[in-house]
Formats: sequence, structure tokens, C-alpha cells
Amino acid sequence: MTVKEIQKYSKYSVPELLKIAVRKFNSFIRKRDCDGEFFTCISCQRTLRIVNYARGGNYHAGHYYPSTESLLRFNEINVNGQCGQCNTHKHGNQIEYRKGLIKKYGIEEVERLDLLDAQYKRGFKWDRFTLIEIIEKYKK
Ligand SMILES: [Zn+2]
Repeated sequence: MTVKEIQKYSKYSVPELLKIAVRKFNSFIRKRDCDGEFFTCISCQRTLRIVNYARGGNYHAGHYYPSTESLLRFNEINVNGQCGQCNTHKHGNQIEYRKGLIKKYGIEEVERLDLLDAQYKRGFKWDRFTLIEIIEKYKK
């Protein structure tokens, strides 16, 4: 990370940086997991036509481990394209989500994610440099 990049964000507080990072990262996940017109939900495995993409619509970036206070929030395996029904109404549809994760990444990656979750539970604090790195990584 360059001094210039750090200075660029000097007017933002940590909560503001967190908001920007979430927006950039979720946008990256949604682009990654669809072909522009259709997506397959990580949990229910339905392939759906995207409705109202720009406003969230039926296509979300859904977290397996929902913790907002850990780096899993920005873990590319922990967050995947998910339908609004599973994400909102079924609270992530976690049992099916796990099956979908194993299918997509393999059991070893999923178990690595379990370990990370256990580690992050021991107190976590956002710092601005981590957040700036995330924003810069996902801004395109
Ligand atoms: Zn679904």
C-alpha cells in the first residue's frame, strides 16, 4: 500500500471505511458469481434470472459465517452469490449453504474457514489500513 493510497482515505473514519469496503467487496462477489443475467444460489442451488441487480433485488452476496466483526466478512470463500429468499427469509439457509460451499470449493477449504471463524472469535478490531487495503483490492 502506498502513502498516496492511505492519504486518499484520510478524511474517512473507520466506520465509513468499513461501509465502503463492504460495498466494494459485495459488488465483487456478485459480479464473480453471475454471468450478468443469471446466477445460481449457493444454498438452494436454483439458477435464477437476476431481477433489479443495482438495487440488490433477488441476488445478494450472502455470508456463510455471518459475523460482521471479523475478516470473514471479506473472505472470498465465506461470501457467495445467494438468492434473496435464502439470504433474508431463511437466515442464510446455512445447512444447504455448507453443502454448496463443499461442492464449490471442496471440504478442505470449508474446514479452513471453520478454523478461521474459531480464531476470529477471540476479539477483533477493524483498523483503517486493513480496510483501505480491502477497498483498493476490490475497487475495480
Ligand atoms: Zn437460494
